[in-house]
Amino acid sequence: MSIRPALAAMPAYIPGRTVAGAIKLASNEVPYPPLPSVLARIADAAAGINRYPDNASTELTQALAARLGVAVEQVRVGCGSVSLCTQLVQAVADADEEVMYAWRSFEAYPIIAAVSGASSIQVPLTAGHVHDLDAMLERITGKTRLIFVCNPNNPTGTVVSRDELVRFLRAVPTDVTVALDEAYCEFVRDVEVPDGLTLLDEFPNLVVLRTFSKAYGLAGLRVGYAVAGDPTVAMAIGQTQVPFSVTTLAQQAALASLEPAAETELLERVDAIAVERERVFARLLDLGYPVPPSQANFVWLPLGAATTDFAAGCEDRRVIVRAFAGAGARVTISTPEENDRFLEAAAELAAS
Ligand code: PMP
Repeated sequence: MSIRPALAAMPAYIPGRTVAGAIKLASNEVPYPPLPSVLARIADAAAGINRYPDNASTELTQALAARLGVAVEQVRVGCGSVSLCTQLVQAVADADEEVMYAWRSFEAYPIIAAVSGASSIQVPLTAGHVHDLDAMLERITGKTRLIFVCNPNNPTGTVVSRDELVRFLRAVPTDVTVALDEAYCEFVRDVEVPDGLTLLDEFPNLVVLRTFSKAYGLAGLRVGYAVAGDPTVAMAIGQTQVPFSVTTLAQQAALASLEPAAETELLERVDAIAVERERVFARLLDLGYPVPPSQANFVWLPLGAATTDFAAGCEDRRVIVRAFAGAGARVTISTPEENDRFLEAAAELAAS
């Protein structure tokens, strides 16, 4: 067997664990079941799965363009935004060229860069767990092809403001693509945080990545979208897509989620999570955990060397959190009852 040596050196993607009888706060999912209208649309679509999907997701692309106020040519639907991240790297970076991102950030970035053969440039977050955009600018070289800015950042929940981002984008060379990963944008309540779509006209090298997995509750179906300032980039993302990877069921479920009544209901759930986030955050601070403010559907406990013990202590109490050994634990905001279960565990562990 001949396997690429790069794979041996590659970090493994560790998904949040599911443990029978325990509550799972490890994967930033929403805790609510799919809406009946969405399930009904999936059931209808299932009757046609002897056929291949529409490879261009035409109807969904048109619906998104209309909904977002952009041209159809700027939009590309993908098999989850993680797939769009991959397609983008493959579209812009050749082997030996550089993909930059903050660290710690979404743990798929290093894997995607390594698989595509690009070099990863990881720029440490500030002491406050926020993107260090000035340090990122300093690391740009002639080989830099793509920069991910994850806003809010996974796993820290921290954000960069519109002013900070605009200053950054003005300083990035125009031939470097910036991917603004807004997987959690619907949970943002801080008015200083930009809606990336409003920056596309000024910055043709910007691509906004979003997903139906989080706020829209379709994590299991795999559908997300990219909106590019420059339609050429959207087209290139289409060229690197695995054919037929966005299933008919995923396309139809996303369309059903964009129906006004469904979207209103889904975004009310998001409101409830944003309210719970503030409650959990305040309580964790009370308990003495040095949690940075979060604008996402999770909070970050930067526990350093104590992380693994904390996660094990939570698991003993039937609560599964996402531990990044040596760095911190990320805990998804869920229903009030599940959040209480976590807070009880956190209180016991703080006292022990
Ligand atoms: N970007 C970020 C920052 C994420 O946290 C995630 C999910 N963990 C994704 C992208 C990918 O989401 P999906 O592929 O489900 O759309």
